Amino acid sequence: MVDKGKIESAIETILQAIGEDSNREGLLATPERVARVYEEIFSGINIDPQAILQTTFNEEYSGLVTLERISFFSMCEHHLLPFYGFVSIGYIPNGKIAGLSKFVRLIDVLSKRPQLQERLTEQIVNLIDLVLSPEGVAVIISAEHMCMSLRGVNKVGATIKTVASRGSLSTQNDRFKEFETIVSKEK
Ligand code: ZN
Repeated sequence: MVDKGKIESAIETILQAIGEDSNREGLLATPERVARVYEEIFSGINIDPQAILQTTFNEEYSGLVTLERISFFSMCEHHLLPFYGFVSIGYIPNGKIAGLSKFVRLIDVLSKRPQLQERLTEQIVNLIDLVLSPEGVAVIISAEHMCMSLRGVNKVGATIKTVASRGSLSTQNDRFKEFETIVSKEK
């Protein structure tokens, strides 16, 4: 539960600190609006991500399962500016699978908190590894960071790519290449 009143007074302080008149018409309701936005974009903070993946199915499928380019929005914890892009997940089940909506929810909960792309990538891999105990799991995230894009036109559209993997989908393994080829194909 976020303290909206505290956010409102903090935003009012920031507006004054940058030299604005926080009482002018266009800014009057801004602290309240920002508080509502923050409540939404930081709503993942107190949710246990491990609980989300608990509904699993027993299935004797031993091929590669891929979930391609699931979009996400998060906030960089160094600058409190958005970074956003796509998460691709691949795993080779070891008797247990989970539905697509659970992975989407997992990404959502882990994104809606002050984050770093590197940590987000590791957290997704670790949770899937922990709950589904697959033979292998890999996650690729490509994202654009507003804290980079804002600092010069040359960096607009530049994306950062992060990779984390475990088991038979480790990056040095051939099966990782299979995963990478599938998710890097243009749709
Ligand atoms: Zn940043």
